[in-house]
Amino acid sequence: HEGQHLQFFIHPFGDGDRLIIARDVTRVANLERMRQDFVANVSHELRTPLTVLSGYLETLADTGVLPERWDKPMGQMLEQTSRMNRLINDLLTLSRLETDDRDFGQRPVPLLPLLEQIVAEGRALSGERGHEFLINCGEGIEIMGQEDELRSAIANLVYNAVNYTPDGKKVSILVNSDPHELVLKVKDNGEGIESRHIPRLTERFYRVDAGRSRETGGTGLGLAIVKHILLRHDADLKIRSKVGKGSTFSCHFPIKRVIQSSPEQQPS
Ligand code: ADP
Repeated sequence: HEGQHLQFFIHPFGDGDRLIIARDVTRVANLERMRQDFVANVSHELRTPLTVLSGYLETLADTGVLPERWDKPMGQMLEQTSRMNRLINDLLTLSRLETDDRDFGQRPVPLLPLLEQIVAEGRALSGERGHEFLINCGEGIEIMGQEDELRSAIANLVYNAVNYTPDGKKVSILVNSDPHELVLKVKDNGEGIESRHIPRLTERFYRVDAGRSRETGGTGLGLAIVKHILLRHDADLKIRSKVGKGSTFSCHFPIKRVIQSSPEQQPS
């Protein structure tokens, strides 16, 4: 009936027979929908009061009327409200990614200029910490997708690489393709991740070291966002890491999403 969700398992036998098992997952699907709606509503409702609060706090800090002993508490209040803003924005982004029409606004996105933009922002984030950046990507490659989403996914991986890699180390973005897929790797030679954590990294709020993540301004939602964006582009995320050696986050795009125009064909 309408609104019913069924899951089918089909098991073929050698002689052409098939065993078909149908499972009613309506309850699970409804619960999932309720969870999504609840998170979206709470985030939305929290946004307005928080905007008012942080607006007044910033004004108050700028007026300079407070005595000096308020400098530290004021700094902490501003920091915490901006952390809450980041959390709410990330939660709203995740809700949107879960529910919006995935084909909306898709077009060929030139890859190299996008990576150059992201690296410029990565450099700004690294600042005095002086990370070295490398891009290895051919010219004229385009990925069929939603530009803002692709930027956000790749930027999340690059910012993580900067945040979890000691000063001055190298962060590389490497793009390779074969007849089946295009692989975009974000590689760092930072602290690495123990293998037992790797399967859980893309879960919401999963962090190897919550204190550390908070220090870097992380919300614990970055990799969940990356995974959802890639899913909407038929792409997979693979993570390889060695403690003390570094991590590689690879995005695997199916070749049907890749457009290769050779540089000679481009108008000059
Ligand atoms: P966060 O906001 O905490 O960075 P993410 O979802 O982006 O959240 O990442 C989840 C966790 O994965 C991080 O808290 C960190 O422990 C680990 N992590 C992510 N990227 C890296 C990396 N390049 N090197 C080491 N650890 C990483």
